[in-house]
Amino acid sequence: MFIVWGRKITRRPAGFVADYCGICREPKRFRLSRLGSVGHVYYISVGEGKLVGYERTCMSCGTFSPAAVSDYRKIAKTALPLETLKQETCPGLDAAMAERRALDERVKTAPHLLSPNERLGLIRSPFNLLSPKVEKRFASTNLDGGVVGAIAGAIGLMIVCPAVGAAISTEGAGPAMVIGMGLGLALIIWQFIAAGQRFMRKEILPPLAKALAPLKPSEAEIEQALRDFRKAGHKIGGKLKAAEILQSAR
Ligand SMILES: [Zn+2]
Repeated sequence: MFIVWGRKITRRPAGFVADYCGICREPKRFRLSRLGSVGHVYYISVGEGKLVGYERTCMSCGTFSPAAVSDYRKIAKTALPLETLKQETCPGLDAAMAERRALDERVKTAPHLLSPNERLGLIRSPFNLLSPKVEKRFASTNLDGGVVGAIAGAIGLMIVCPAVGAAISTEGAGPAMVIGMGLGLALIIWQFIAAGQRFMRKEILPPLAKALAPLKPSEAEIEQALRDFRKAGHKIGGKLKAAEILQSAR
């Protein structure tokens, strides 16, 4: 018998903290998750597994990144209002963010007076922050409404095509079945590709555009960032076009 087993990463809620969000460009509330590496048999796992780290997810924009629990004075059990959460979990946040806020202020008021190096760093930063979300999405198979519809359509084609074939000629059912399967397969593949594009448009483009908008980047600057990420093997570099990012960031 073929047994599927191995290890997988599980996420467990670990509480709430306040921190700076590089996409929202301001202090935000974050949901903290504990990442555990746990053994599974047929993808069914028991327990929370060996601790491999923590992850924080911005409650405003949904962007997640690795987190160090030692950065916070304590972890809040509930999602308190931002100011209270800040005092309880990260009281030094405002002071620590002074330099960052000064830079954000310059981004807001005079983005073109930033040095080319500052601009490059600021343009790359949201790609870097959103890259883990893209990698996670494309590392596993995802069925959204379109893909499920395509599978249903493919099943329908395999029922309808042989019936139509048989009605046309006594030998028609076989070839019509092959045509139906081919069409069904093409439909599913097309929807799998489209599902990836839908994810990029819905989940990645809006926060990316929001973070880039104050910088008023040129198409060449975005192109450069995409190329760098592509070269470094990040999927985010190959799944978006500079022109569509630019259009959304206006
Ligand atoms: Zn955010």
